[in-house]
Amino acid sequence: MPLTVHQFACLSDNYGFLIRDEASGMTACIDTPDSGAILRELDDLGWDLDMILNTHWHPDHAGGNADIKLITGCTIVGPPEVTRIGPLDREVDGGDTVELGETTFQVIESGGHTLGHIAFFDAADRVAFVGDTLFALGCGRLFEGTPEQMWTSLQRLAALPDDTKVYCAHEYTASNARFALSVDDSAALRGRAEAVFAARERGEWTVPTSIGLEKATNPFLRAPALAARVGAAGEPDARAFAAVRAAKDVFKG
Ligand code: ZN
Ligand code: FE
Repeated sequence: MPLTVHQFACLSDNYGFLIRDEASGMTACIDTPDSGAILRELDDLGWDLDMILNTHWHPDHAGGNADIKLITGCTIVGPPEVTRIGPLDREVDGGDTVELGETTFQVIESGGHTLGHIAFFDAADRVAFVGDTLFALGCGRLFEGTPEQMWTSLQRLAALPDDTKVYCAHEYTASNARFALSVDDSAALRGRAEAVFAARERGEWTVPTSIGLEKATNPFLRAPALAARVGAAGEPDARAFAAVRAAKDVFKG
C-alpha cells in the first residue's frame, strides 16, 4: 500500500507535508514550519497525527514541535540538534530507519546547511524528504557545515534512484533558475528554466522535483562539469561545488 503525500504552502515560501501510510492509516508531518497551518490541514483531511519527522533544527522546520505535540500527543523523531529549539522523543541519525505503519524511511545523513541535518527516504515508494539540503535547481546555504560536508550529503541524495520524488522544504526554484542560468547554458537547463518561470507565472508549485531532473540540471550537483565557469577548473569536485555555492551567495539576480 502506498504512501499518500499531502503538500501545502505555508509561511512565506515553505512547504508543509502531511503523509499517511495507507495500510495502517498512520500519519506524520515532515517538519513543523507553521503549527496553525498544520493543525488546520489535519482537520480538513480528518487525519490524526502520530508522528513528526524533523530534518533539522531551524525554526521554520522544528518551531512548531511543542505546540503540535501538546495538541496531538504525537511522537517527535529527528536529529539530536532539534533539542536546541523544542522537544524531541527519538534521536535518529544516518543509517537508522523509522517505521510509519508499513512504510519504512531510511535516515540519510545530509549535514551542511546545519551540522545534523537529515533526510528521509522511502525506497518502496521512491519518495525523499530532503528539508533544506537539496532544492529544485538549488541547495541549502552552508550555515554550519563545510562545502566538503555538503558535497558529500548531496552525493548521497544524488545516489538515490532517478525517479525518486524529491520533496524540498521551500519554493525557491525561480530565483535558483536565474542563478543557474548564470553559470550553465546547457539546453537541458534552459528548457527547464523556461518551464519553471512559466509555471511560477501561473502560480504553480515546482516541488516535488526528481533526482534525475536535478542531476541533469541542478548547478550544485553539476558543479564538476561547471568548474571552469566558476574559476575552479581542475579542482577537486568539492572545491568546484564550493565555488558554485560561493557564486550563488553573492549572486544578485
Ligand atoms: Zn533551514
Ligand atoms: Fe528552511
